[in-house]
Parts: sequence; structure tokens; C-alpha cells
Amino acid sequence: MEVFRTVLGDVSPETSGRFLTHEHLLYGYPGAELDHRTVLDYENNVAFIAKQVADGMNDWGFGTLVDMTPPEVGRHPELMAEVARRTGMNVIAITGFFPERMGVPYYWRRQTVEELTDFFVKDLTEGMVFAWQQTPYKAGAIKIATGQESVTPQPSPIGPNGRRIHEVEDRVIRAAGRASRIVGCAINTHTDPMDYRVTNPGIEQLDILEEEGADPAKVVIGHAFVEPNEGQLHEILDRGANLQLDHIGIPWRVDTVEELDERMADAFVGLINEGYTSQLVLSYDRWFYNPRSDVTESDPQLANERVDLGYMWTSFIPRLKSKGVTDEQIDAITRDNAARIFSIKV
Ligand SMILES: [Zn+2]
Repeated sequence: MEVFRTVLGDVSPETSGRFLTHEHLLYGYPGAELDHRTVLDYENNVAFIAKQVADGMNDWGFGTLVDMTPPEVGRHPELMAEVARRTGMNVIAITGFFPERMGVPYYWRRQTVEELTDFFVKDLTEGMVFAWQQTPYKAGAIKIATGQESVTPQPSPIGPNGRRIHEVEDRVIRAAGRASRIVGCAINTHTDPMDYRVTNPGIEQLDILEEEGADPAKVVIGHAFVEPNEGQLHEILDRGANLQLDHIGIPWRVDTVEELDERMADAFVGLINEGYTSQLVLSYDRWFYNPRSDVTESDPQLANERVDLGYMWTSFIPRLKSKGVTDEQIDAITRDNAARIFSIKV
């Protein structure tokens, strides 16, 4: 039997609805949970997040949301579960980590591949831990991440493994490959757009995952359309992995949303016309609540929350349709492909 492993338990993929494959209900960079300025007003924050989720379900037919927030970036299992209870959204949490330069707390940097594998498998099969407490809420997918994103982003240097992947990231990715093989779950990845200038980070991630026995058909390479060239996207698809177009309506590493949307849409439509439709998924990478919204006021690149949840349907999909994409192809990209990738055989 195939299931989605949501925070409220395993559910039938029949309940899928439209998918959001990479979002964040609550988001704060590592350390944010220690700040006086980020203390949660839990009841109000949950209501604020749940309202957006409920509106997205009612207005746009979203039914499943993958919360890609890693444990050190404010992953909050009880909050995710409460939003799921109030709205009926299938919320799939992830285990895994942020890029080494931004995340992976020191405790976890010291662990072996075997220990990291055990951590991921326990998150996926027994439930996640939050603030020293075991919770009953299981993760349903794995996140891996690479890249030099930091206060000043730059392309990744060549690491000790000969790839542009740091030493700790290498171990995390190996563990993710093993855990995915054991549990049968999807791996969704963060690649850094700048790395596409110096390598194909999706292929480097796939090389390691496949060395550890992961199935490329269960892998989604994320942030894949922000900067890469077409050849790099083909290379990833021809390995059997999937590509996620995200950051629609969000000005990440570019001056205007219009410029990024148009460039990404052209690349996406090119791949659809070449027959790759079944390997494509679509999401925002939006945060529903970031306690430091005062920061996003002064730094528009961080203003993920400002994109409206309907933007996909009011702007980006009409843009795809104007370039010849059919309703049937839209159904595959917004529902069926993700439902297949995020299903787990139990
Ligand atoms: Zn994200």
C-alpha cells in the first residue's frame, strides 16, 4: 500500500489535492529560537498560519504541503500538527539539515554517517524530537542542502571529496541516501543557484545519494530553475530525478520577480515540450510565518511571505498556459507527480 506520511499519520495518496512541495509554516534561521524578538505568541501564530493554509485549500485546491523546515531552522512538530488538525491539510514534515555553512549544529557535525542515518530513520518511523522531548509526529521525507549561502553568498569551493560539497554535507547526504532506501521516502534538496555557475550541484547530490542506494526517481532537485542552464537541467532529468521550480513571485538573487518568473517559465516550458512533464513539480518556498518580519521589510530578498498563496494560479500558471502548456500537464505538475514522488510503500 502507498501512503503519504503526514504529521498526523499515514494517509492515502487519494487525499492529495494540489501539492506544495517546498514550503515553511514557521521559519527562523538557526539561533532565532534564542532571540527575545522571536518569542512565539503561539496561539496567535498558529491561527495566523492556519488561516493562510485554509484559504489556500479553499481558494486554490491545495491539499498537501511539504514543510521543508529542517530541525535547526525552527521545525516545530506540534505547531505543524496543530495547523494540520485545524485545516485538514496533509502536512508532510522533513528530517535532514540545512547547508553546512548555514546550519547543521555542531553536535550533529560530529556524528558518523551511521548515526545520522539512525537519526533520520527514527524521525521518519518513531517521531521527531523537539526541545529535548520526543513527539509522536513523524517526518515523511528528507531534506538535504548544499551551497555557500551566507551573509554574502558565493559559489561553493571544492571540498575534501573532490566535489563542491562540504565534508559534513557529504556525510549528511550519504545518511539521507541510506535512510531513504530503508524507509522508501522522498528526498527533496536545496541547491544554491550560484553553484550552477561552477558545477551541476544536482548531479553532485545525486552522485552521492546513488552511491548510498537511493532511487533517483524519489529525489527532487530544488531551486533548480533560478540560475542553471538547460544542459544542466537535462542532465538531472536524464538521471531519472525530478526538478522543482520554486521562488515564483519571490525575488531571490534577482532584481525583479517578473524577470525571474519569465526566465524560469521559459526553461520549464522547454522541458515540458521535450516530454519531461512527469518529472516536474512546482512550489513557492514561502514562509507562512517568520517572527522577524521586521527584517524582511529592509531586505526584500527575505520577503518570501509577501507572495500571495494564489499567485501560482493567478500569475504563474496563466503564464505557462500562454506558452502552450495544457490543463492535463498542469494537473501532472501540480498534483500527480508529487503524489507519486512523496508516496511511501508500507
Ligand atoms: Zn525553503
